[in-house]
Amino acid sequence: TDSIDSSTILTRDLKPNQEFRFEVPATSSITIRLTAGTAGTAELFGTELSKGLPYTFTCCKSAIYTWTGCSLSIEGAPSVEYIAEETPMATYLNLHIALEKLRVAASDCPPTTEGAQGPRILLIGPPDVGKTTVAKILTGYSIRQGRKPMVINLDTAGEGVLTVPGTISAASFGSVMDVEDGFGSSPMSAPSAIPVKLPLVYYYGFETAESGSRRYKRLISRMAVAVNSRLEEDIESKNTGLIIDTPSFDNQTNGDVISHIVAEFSITTIAILGSERLYNTMLKSFPPSSSSPINVIKLPTSGGCVDRDAPYKKSIRDAAVKKYFFGDAKCTLSPYTVSIEFDSPTFSLWEVVDSLSSSAERQKNISFLPIGEDESSLSADEEVVKRLAPGDVDSRFENMVVAVLQVDAKDAGAKEVGESAVMGFLFVQEVDEKERRMKVLSPVPGRVPAKALLVGRWPEGMFLT
Ligand code: ADP
Repeated sequence: TDSIDSSTILTRDLKPNQEFRFEVPATSSITIRLTAGTAGTAELFGTELSKGLPYTFTCCKSAIYTWTGCSLSIEGAPSVEYIAEETPMATYLNLHIALEKLRVAASDCPPTTEGAQGPRILLIGPPDVGKTTVAKILTGYSIRQGRKPMVINLDTAGEGVLTVPGTISAASFGSVMDVEDGFGSSPMSAPSAIPVKLPLVYYYGFETAESGSRRYKRLISRMAVAVNSRLEEDIESKNTGLIIDTPSFDNQTNGDVISHIVAEFSITTIAILGSERLYNTMLKSFPPSSSSPINVIKLPTSGGCVDRDAPYKKSIRDAAVKKYFFGDAKCTLSPYTVSIEFDSPTFSLWEVVDSLSSSAERQKNISFLPIGEDESSLSADEEVVKRLAPGDVDSRFENMVVAVLQVDAKDAGAKEVGESAVMGFLFVQEVDEKERRMKVLSPVPGRVPAKALLVGRWPEGMFLT
């Protein structure tokens, strides 16, 4: 704006194939413009910047790349900023071109045939090696090519795709991605903020896949079915295929989860970043053969990738939850405070159960089983979620998100609740044990719908107001 002293405006001239890397803490913000008169173009993780438009950034570590050379003007003080000459962008572009060839081939096939299915790429590797960034770049490039990628986020600890953390989610991107916000965390109830169709969201409620891996795998299976049925209704998405981002699986404990994802989503390319060892394990697990045409490839990590420490990750997460309820500078939202009565006939609150404690509980229960019945006769669904009696609802749920599921409170059994997709989220402000009710923030006014509610263990310890 005019009020900003020109001495705080930096100009950075980039040569072709260079990248401007910057970091901004949560406590400040900066504005970047692709200089109006500049001859060149620039992009942020695959999405093009418009000339002269101000883009505002806060709490991020990011980069603006140029194929042509360009000039940027920056208002405010980034905590880190430099120009990098070496980037893996050419390799990422080549990967995009290879995927695009497969999409062209898919578009040429009759819609109902297997061949109409575009490439399905899975990105795996240790933390902070650029998995999410590559997912954004591939998404941005395919959108610019006029495609409609379905992006799937299986990382429950990180940012969701158009939703809050603690979830796994899928969304079809048909229009340009948001430069400032990437995959974003728009509320599912605000249609104007949604690019195409409501994202598909499952609330997992744990930080890592291990804590409840049975349910994690089950939700992945559910999501794969739902994604496939969405693709059947949308030939453009089907031809474009899938881009799947994951948590940092380590190959020792999560080999079976990776195989599960590969099978459920019929993955055609596995791209490994940042781990030679994981790459070799994958090559062995998915050897090239005509019966399983899975491509295993290695991708270089950008030197710009930065390790994010726990407090930083928490601030990103909190910001995503906050944004779900309160919006941001571009689109402010005012959530409503609503009360939920525990003694209402439609009160149906469930909690996720982690595998470890549930197997301990199972051991305990086995000794009470009638003679002749064994462990396998216990319902498998009982273990992943359990219903809470009103007396069990206490202050441990304060400052947690609650998922409003797509299953009616009155029909809700453990199986339905354990597998249901999410309608939207509430945030618990206060639990009043004496009055048997809780106060929640809701993105929409009025009573909370008579749906089953599910509370998890993650994300935890947030203070929104
Ligand atoms: P992962 O998904 O493997 O955990 P990310 O893609 O989230 O890794 O990258 C880790 C961090 O590094 C993120 O904050 C991301 O924005 C940042 N980052 C990635 N590539 C670059 C780059 N080229 N320049 C600056 N920061 C980057």
